Amino acid sequence: MKMLLEGKWVDKNEKIEVKDPYDDSVIDTVPKGNKEDVGKAMKSAAGGFEEIKNVPVHQRAQILYKTASNVSDNLDDFAQLIAREGSKTIREAEKEAARCVNTLTVSAEESKRILGETIPFDSFPGGENRRGYYYRFPIGIILAITPFNDPLNLVAHKLGPALASGNSVVLKPATVTPLSALKLAGAFLEAGLPPRALQVLTGKGSEIGDLLVQDERSRMISFTGGVEAGKKIARLAGIKKTGMELGSDSPVIVWEDAELETAVDSCVSGAFWGAGQNCIGVQRLYIHYSVYEAFKKDFVDRTSQYRIGDKLDENTDMGPMITEKEAVRVEEWISEAVEGDAQILTGGKRKGTLHEPTVLEGVPETAALHCEEVFGPTVNLYPIKGLDEAISKANQLPYGLHTAIFTKDVDVAFKAAYNLDCGGVMVNDSTDYRLDSMPFGGVKYSGLGREGVKFALQEMTEPKVICFNLSDVK
Ligand code: NAP
Repeated sequence: MKMLLEGKWVDKNEKIEVKDPYDDSVIDTVPKGNKEDVGKAMKSAAGGFEEIKNVPVHQRAQILYKTASNVSDNLDDFAQLIAREGSKTIREAEKEAARCVNTLTVSAEESKRILGETIPFDSFPGGENRRGYYYRFPIGIILAITPFNDPLNLVAHKLGPALASGNSVVLKPATVTPLSALKLAGAFLEAGLPPRALQVLTGKGSEIGDLLVQDERSRMISFTGGVEAGKKIARLAGIKKTGMELGSDSPVIVWEDAELETAVDSCVSGAFWGAGQNCIGVQRLYIHYSVYEAFKKDFVDRTSQYRIGDKLDENTDMGPMITEKEAVRVEEWISEAVEGDAQILTGGKRKGTLHEPTVLEGVPETAALHCEEVFGPTVNLYPIKGLDEAISKANQLPYGLHTAIFTKDVDVAFKAAYNLDCGGVMVNDSTDYRLDSMPFGGVKYSGLGREGVKFALQEMTEPKVICFNLSDVK
């Protein structure tokens, strides 16, 4: 595929191969964008901003509705592409493609609800003659940087609200999964988006990232990815807004009165969705000691029935990790935990990029598997006795995206909800529940700001006050 630069599809002699992580076959190539292309993208996006900001809201909404329908009409193709270039099984990819249609549709709807309000200037002496209001205006070029694990819908979460509010975008998708993003850009152009309003630059973060981030022409960086890259971007960004959707180490509490079957089903899926490469994937399970053994037995049984392998087979439950290097890292983290006396209850083996879904207990709190984001198919079980203990263990790490609790007791649920330090608490769902229109984001190292269309729209616009000093208001 080609990249989208200066309103045209552009190829280059230097290419990056996009490979299927399941069998290492080359699916396609994309041009390797360089530093010169960064300058071209920013310059063209500046022109694109002048165009898109003047497109009336009803037309922007139509472009978004039409893009959503283009994706919807080609749902199978999008799902195949997601499944081939990334780690997701075809069933997981189908869900992501359908969610992308929803994200774009909600963006179209929300484009009509970017509201301001009147200001009571006479609420302080001296303002008696003043009348006015504020409205929200687009801020300019948004630099969007996206990760590999949801290669379509997380791109839609940036393009949808940015374009809905009249900004232009320079998008740099993950190098391992750029194809879904390019196909989505095609759907936008077909829907009538002014071409320079969106630039999609394929190229390596390690080579063009610093220049992109430091370029003063963009007014906001909307980044989704790992904490390390996030910290570096924050250091280099200079005076511009930054939205950070980063990693986590998601904890779930299973209370003594939990509906165990629901909790097991939900947490198995939440732990191994996308081969565990999921920012809200279940990593630490704190289970009341009175139900620990029963929960453990069912959880291990369900996990050991997981079918792993060919992503395009409808019967496969879990696919490969994104690269062999990542699968080896998970293997090493498991070994470190086992050396510290952790026990593997099921799984633990790796073949190439395929790592078995793995359940452990007794993982020491000093092990990386406990205190770092694993971003792989492993989950740790821990027995707990009291709610305060469970909440304090859940809060003990420097992350806070989603947490979850399974209980039938409203008091327990409320206490947990108000004391868990994070961006969202799921009650009787695992941490892996998200609606694309809800505010989504974290505290501590899990991020800054919120996505979820309506909330991203606030971040991507600024209020402008208009105040009339009138000579006669009576
Ligand atoms: P990553 O290595 O941080 O990369 C994310 C994106 O940043 C890629 O496009 C990457 O480009 C680019 N990048 C890396 N270093 C950069 C730099 N110095 N300057 C500019 N761009 C740079 O993350 P990943 O492995 O793709 O994704 C996994 C991480 O994303 C996990 O930590 C996960 O929790 C997090 N995530 C968070 C959310 C959320 O909403 N909170 C959602 C999904 C994923 P290259 O591909 O070229 O390296």
